Amino acid sequence: MADCIFCKIIAGQIPCTKVHEDANVLVFMDINPISPGHTLVVPKKHYEAITEMPAEEAAALYKPIPALAAAVKAALKAEALNVLQNNGRAAGQAVDHLHVHLIPRWAGDGLGFRWPAKQADMEVLAKQAEAVKKALGG
Ligand code: AMP
Ligand code: ZN
Repeated sequence: MADCIFCKIIAGQIPCTKVHEDANVLVFMDINPISPGHTLVVPKKHYEAITEMPAEEAAALYKPIPALAAAVKAALKAEALNVLQNNGRAAGQAVDHLHVHLIPRWAGDGLGFRWPAKQADMEVLAKQAEAVKKALGG
C-alpha cells in the first residue's frame, strides 16, 4: 500500500524503534505512547482490519503476543497490560494497517478504563446471538 505509514516502516523507508521481527510480524515502539513501553505488533502484510485477515495469518500475528506481552510487562516492571486492537474510526483506529497495541499499565496511571456495563435485556441478547450465529453461517 503506497500511502500506508506502517507499510513504509516494514519496507524500511521510514525508521522505527524495532523490538522484534519474524517472518510475519514487525514489533516496534509506538511513537506517541499512551504509557511507557507502549509497543505495536504489526503484520508485515497489509490488512486494514481483523475482519479482513485470513485465519492462518491472524494466528501467525497473535502467536508471538503472549511472549511479547510478558516481555514488555517485565521490561517496564508494569503491574498490568492491555492488549488492544482497534478496527475502524468509531473504534479509535487512526492507522489503517491492522496492528495490536501492547500497553503497560499501573494502578493510578491516569489512563482509566471506560467500561460502562449495563444490565442486559435477555431477549435482546438472544436476538443478537442469533444474528451473529447466522452471520457465522451456523
Ligand atoms: P490506532 O489508533 O489503533 O490506529 O493506533 C495507531 C498508533 O500508531 C498510535 O498509537 C500512534 O501513536 C502510532 N503511530 C503512528 N505513526 C507511527 C510511527 N511512525 N511509528 C510508531 N508508531 C506510530
Ligand atoms: Zn500497510
